[in-house]
Order: sequence, then structure tokens, then C-alpha cells
Amino acid sequence: MCLASGIVQGLTWAKGHESLDYFEFGSIGGSPPIDGIVTFWTAVILFQNLVPISLYISIEIVKLAQAFFIYSDVDMYYAHIDYPCTPKSWNISDDLGQIEYIFSDKTGTLTQNVMEFKKCTINGIPYGEAYTEAQAGMDKRAGVDVEVEGARARAQIAKDRVSMLRELREIHKNPYLDNDQLTFVSSEFVADLRGAAGEEQAKANSHFMLALALCHTVLPDRLSEDPPRIDFKAQSPDEAALVATARDCGFTLLECTSKGVRLSIQGTEVDFEVLNTLEFNSSRKRMSAIIRMPDGKIILFCKGADSIIYSRLAPGQQAELRASTAEHLEIFAREGLRTLCIAQKELTEEEYRVWNREHEIAAAAVHGREEKLEEVADAMERELTLLGGTAIEDRLQDGVPDTIALLAEAGIKLWVLTGDKVETAINIGFSCNLLDNGMDLILVKVDDDSMETAARMLDEYLQIFNLHGTPEELEAARKDHNPPAPTHALVIDGEALKLFLDEELRMKFLLLCKQCKAVLCCRVSPSQKASVVQMVKKGLDVMTLSIGDGANDVAMIQEADVGVGLAGVEGRAAVMSSDYAIGQFRFLGRLVLVHGRWSYHRLAEMVANFFYKVCVIFS
Ligand SMILES: [Mg+2]
Repeated sequence: MCLASGIVQGLTWAKGHESLDYFEFGSIGGSPPIDGIVTFWTAVILFQNLVPISLYISIEIVKLAQAFFIYSDVDMYYAHIDYPCTPKSWNISDDLGQIEYIFSDKTGTLTQNVMEFKKCTINGIPYGEAYTEAQAGMDKRAGVDVEVEGARARAQIAKDRVSMLRELREIHKNPYLDNDQLTFVSSEFVADLRGAAGEEQAKANSHFMLALALCHTVLPDRLSEDPPRIDFKAQSPDEAALVATARDCGFTLLECTSKGVRLSIQGTEVDFEVLNTLEFNSSRKRMSAIIRMPDGKIILFCKGADSIIYSRLAPGQQAELRASTAEHLEIFAREGLRTLCIAQKELTEEEYRVWNREHEIAAAAVHGREEKLEEVADAMERELTLLGGTAIEDRLQDGVPDTIALLAEAGIKLWVLTGDKVETAINIGFSCNLLDNGMDLILVKVDDDSMETAARMLDEYLQIFNLHGTPEELEAARKDHNPPAPTHALVIDGEALKLFLDEELRMKFLLLCKQCKAVLCCRVSPSQKASVVQMVKKGLDVMTLSIGDGANDVAMIQEADVGVGLAGVEGRAAVMSSDYAIGQFRFLGRLVLVHGRWSYHRLAEMVANFFYKVCVIFS
């Protein structure tokens, strides 16, 4: 700046016959070059004393004002939980305007995290009707008019719902059944419960609902007495949805007593003794409850991820049931539903007594208590008998497809990092505008888990784009900030991602991802989410933003330049570690494209104006 002032002064003085001839003051140095040098040093003195400190303060004040604008924007206020967009960092609003990559979680971020029980399969028969967003995505993929098909399906469900409610009340006038709360619609289920498909199926249906009402860690919460309404408080919203469906079908959890639970089974109150509860955690992926039934039998009910339960079933039995249940669960997963398997095991008094003694020893252990308990639980949850499976829907939040389309139009690349299965993630991708029919899906799965195969596959995929993964190509990719052509999308599994994130393959993988319009990483762990963000941030030297809602997103939120937390039902861990907290995903569009852009623009203009002001005052 000083040099520019010097040169400009020298040149204009040298020109002559300018307006300056008419001013009274003459040349200081005598000749234009010396005048230029003198001006240079004058500028150094002026600028060094006056510019930095006041400029710094002005920038801070402007940023503070911008944070206030963001906080008070009514268009980003989420009335449902009384939550405005809350800036936790005041001084990075201009970074929002420079975001190139957005990394998003799925459950609770793109979806509502409000679980609705939609379907189930009991004793080999599927029940339930739903027209899910993933189904709509699938239809869209097949070229079906989604509006017409959706309206038809919804009309059919509404009709069936009325008859289901009527039939349920014919069995028993369940006072806890609330018409608006019913999510599981299947009049066939009720008909079979009443014996339309034989005694065996009626028993299976009733036993399945009993299992749902017994195997959980849910606490009932009485909302009102007249009409009697019971809500359920649970650690995970999935569990509450299961128990609520059992309630709607006439198996209501009334209270948890010191010994066990009291259920109302089609109007009759029955006490069940809960002997043990083997709790859920993310490595076990299952939970069990050991119950003494009123007839004295001891039954272990176990529910968990389908792969886990299937590996624990008694070998060589129920072959037909297992095949049909697995098939139904796969259809449910393709429709974007979250599936769980339910199984049981009958124990003899002696078996239980022996096991319980070991369990008590493990529970009393001082060292390695967790591991010992897990070992004992693992020994018990074997040789199970399959009962069926459940499917729960987690709907997309309002405005998610529009926001994703808008961000894509602005040239921002959105990557979705989810813990879901590949099929579920693809269908959700279609329903939220991330993927479309014109795209070629590159599905990355490494079957034999070897580095060589992964490297070979990567080279093959790069060939599609005429690339070889050389450092020069990466350098060129770094300089290219244009969004990739919407021709390809990449879907990768967590196991494969582990190989591709290795130092050796990382840059080539990044180059491949850079060519794809959408990237979906499925079945990824929290640390993998953070590694993906780091790979893009460091590898491409761009501004990144992460958005998530749960504790599993904290690593990713902290890794990105700007972290956005969603205040949802999964606690406030993500919000606490974020730079901006919002109530719904759709506000992200406004935050980045309106506030981010304006903040960046204003700040840039303010700095230029600041220098202009200083020049005017001090020259
Ligand atoms: Mg989440």
C-alpha cells in the first residue's frame, strides 16, 4: 500500500499539466522520483500507526453486529422448540460465505429423529402399510409420478387406518389408544390377532406385541387421567416407538414397579417380574430382558440389529422363517426404514440360576466390570428363537430436499456421512435430491479387505474420469473450485472407507470424490467422519462446514472450519461444541447463502472503505 502510494504520487507529479498545478503547495523532494520516495515513507508512518489497531477493532465490532443479525433473524427461528439460530462463535460469520464443502449427518440432521413404527414381520408374515420418502425416491428413480402414487397410497392407508382402529376397539375398548398417535396401520394384523389366519398366527402376533411391551428400558409417563394417556420416556426414540405400538395394539405398559412391570393386556392387568436387563450399547447392538412370566416360565427377550440377532440364533432351526423374515427386513430397509429383529429363548430354572450367579459375580467385580458383564451377557444371548422384525420410519425434516437443491445450485458440495446401511442411504439420497436418475452411481465395496484390491479399484474408477491420481492432477484439482458435473455419485461403505483413508490411497480417493457430484459414506464411525472432513480440508485447502445433531458428530463438527449443531432430541452435545446452533436443517441454506455471503461482502467492503477513510483523513 505504501509502495503504491509512492509510485502513484511520483507518476502523477511527473505527468504535469494536471489539476495539482493549480494548488499552492509545490514539490517536497524537488523531482518526481524523490517525491515518490518521500511519500512512501510518509505512508509507512501514517499507516503503521493508525490502521492496524482501529481496523482490528472495527472488524470485531462489525462481526459482533453480524452475529447479532444472525441471532435475531426470524426466518431462522424454530418455534417448535423456541430456538433461534445461536452463534456460539462471534467472529467467523465471514467464513460462512466461503464454504465450499458441507458434511452432514443423516439421522436427526436431515431426518426428524421422530421414530414412527410402520411395519413388522411376525412368524413370516409382513404387516403394515407406509409410503416412505425412500419409497418415493425409489419410484422417482423408476420414473413413476410420485405425486399421484403418493396420494393414492396415502388414501389407501387412511382408509385402512379407520378400519384398523375400529377392529382394535372391537377386541377391547383400549382407553390408551389415541387415534392420532397410531402409526402402525395394518388391519390384517388385527384380523390375524383375532384368529383370521389360524390359532398359531394369532398367538405369534400376540406374543410378539408382548415381547415389545416387555423388552425395553422405557419408563411410562402418565400425561392425563381422563382420557388416560401414557407417553414413554426412553434413551432412544426407537424404543419408545416400539412400546407405544404395543400400547396401541392393546399391550400397554402401565408402570415399572420395584420387581418388574405391570402391563394391561387387552384390559387385564398382569404383573411380570423382570429378573435382569442386559442393556444396549453401540458395540453390542442388542438389548435383552429376562422375564418371569405369570405361568412361572423364564423367558429371555432379545432385540437388536438383524445381523447381530441372526448370528445368535440356534443353528439349524426355523430355516423357512429366517429366510422370509430376512427377505422382509431387506424390503423394509430398502424403503428407508430402520429395522430391528426380535428373538427369544426359554430358560429352565436351573439354567437361569447358574447364569445369574455368574452375572452377580461379574456385576460385583472391581476390575474390568464392563468386560466381564459383557462376556456373561454374551454367553446368555445365544441359541435364540426368532420371533420377527420391526421397521421404524424416521421422516425427512421439512424443506430438506429444497435446501439441498439450493446449496447445490450455489456450487456447494454436500457429502452425507451416515451410520445407515448402503441401500437405505441411497434411497434417502434420492428422496432428498442428493442423487437423481441422471447420475451414475459408483458403489465402492471392497470384498476381501485388502489394500491391493482397494488400490486397483481406485485406479479403475479414476479411469472413468481419465485420471491417474498423479500429484499434478491433485494440484490442478486444488485450483479448480467449480462444482463437478452432475454425472456421477459415489457411495462408499465404512469398511471400504477404512482402506481408502489410509495414507497411501487417501489422495487418489480424494481426487475421485472431487469428480463426483454427491458423496455418501455409509456405516461410518464418528472418527471416520472426522477423518473424511480432515481429508478434504487439508487435501483441497478449502473451507468446510460440518452439521450434525448427536454426540457422534462432535468430532466431525470440531474438525471442520465451521461447525453447525442441530438442537434436536439427541441431547445438546453437538450444539455445545458447534459454532452455530440451529433448530432445523433447512435454516442452513439461509445461514450460509444469505448471512454468510452478506457477512463476507460487508467485511470486505468495510476493510476497503476503512483504508479509503484513512487515506482521505491523513493525506
Ligand atoms: Mg445423528
